[in-house]
Amino acid sequence: MLSFSPAAAAKQLAPLRVLSNTEIAADLFLLRFERNDRSFEPGQFLAVGLPRETHRREYSIYSGVNDDFFEILFRRMPDGYLTMRLAELRPGDAVIAEGPEGSFTLPDSPEHLLLVATGTGISPFHCYARSYPDLSFRLLHGVRTVGERADPAEYGGSYVACVSREMGGEYHGRVTSYLKEELAAHPLDPTTHCFLCGNCDMIYEVYALLHRYGVPLDRLHTEVYF
Ligand SMILES: Cc1cc2nc3c(=O)[nH]c(=O)nc-3n(C[C@H](O)[C@H](O)[C@H](O)COP(=O)(O)OP(=O)(O)OC[C@H]3O[C@@H](n4cnc5c(N)ncnc54)[C@H](O)[C@@H]3O)c2cc1C
Repeated sequence: MLSFSPAAAAKQLAPLRVLSNTEIAADLFLLRFERNDRSFEPGQFLAVGLPRETHRREYSIYSGVNDDFFEILFRRMPDGYLTMRLAELRPGDAVIAEGPEGSFTLPDSPEHLLLVATGTGISPFHCYARSYPDLSFRLLHGVRTVGERADPAEYGGSYVACVSREMGGEYHGRVTSYLKEELAAHPLDPTTHCFLCGNCDMIYEVYALLHRYGVPLDRLHTEVYF
C-alpha cells in the first residue's frame, strides 16, 4: 500500500541553496547546490525547478554519492524555459529538486562496461566515476567543441572525446563514426553492458549498431534526454 508522508513531501519541496554556478564552456553550466542529506544511486536524476514555480525539468546527477552537495551539468537552450533561468542563478539563490528518480543504474559487479554519451549526457557517467573510484569502463563522449568535454581528467585513460566541430580530443568526428570504426576493428566482449545517454539520434543509432554487433538487448541501457 502506498503511504503519504508529509515530512518526506516537505523535504522534497524545501528550497536548496545554490553554492556555485559556473559557465565551463559557452552555454554549458555546472550548477552546485545543497544536498540536504538526500540519498541517491549513481545514474539517477532530479526534477529541478525554481521556488514558487511549477515547471520542472529532469537533470541527471553529475556529482558523486560521497559529495555533500548536488551538481548538475546543463546546457542553456536558446528560449529554453528553465535553462535560461538556471543560467542566471547566483550563490545564495535557491532551487527545488524533487527525487531522485530513475533506474539508469549499474548492475552489480559488471565485468565490462561501455559508456557512450553526447553533450551533457556525460553526467550519469561522471557520477559513476566519482562514486565508484575502482570502476573499470570505456567512455566515449561526443561533443561539438573541446571545451564541452567538462572534466576529462576525472576518467583517467578510459575516456575518448569525439569532437565534431573543431580539431582536438582523441577523435575528430561523431561518436557514432568512432564506434563503427572501433567495432569493425575490435569486436566487443559479449558480456559487455552498454550504457547510452544523451540525444535520441545518437541513442537510436548506437543501440542498433551494438545490437547488430551481437550485444543482447538486456545489456543495452538507455537514458534519452530529448
Ligand atoms: C531523464 C532526463 C535527464 C536529463 N538530464 C539532463 C542533464 O543532465 N543536462 C541537461 O542539460 N539536460 C538534461 N535533460 C534535458 C532537460 O530535462 C531539459 O529538457 C533541458 O534542459 C531543456 O529545458 P528548457 O526548459 O530550458 O527547454 P524547453 O523550453 O523545455 O525546450 C527547449 C528545446 O530544447 C530541446 N533540448 C532539450 N535538451 C536539450 C539539450 N541538452 N541539447 C539540445 N537540445 C535540447 C528540447 O527538445 C526543446 O525543443 C534530461 C532529460 C531527461 C528526460
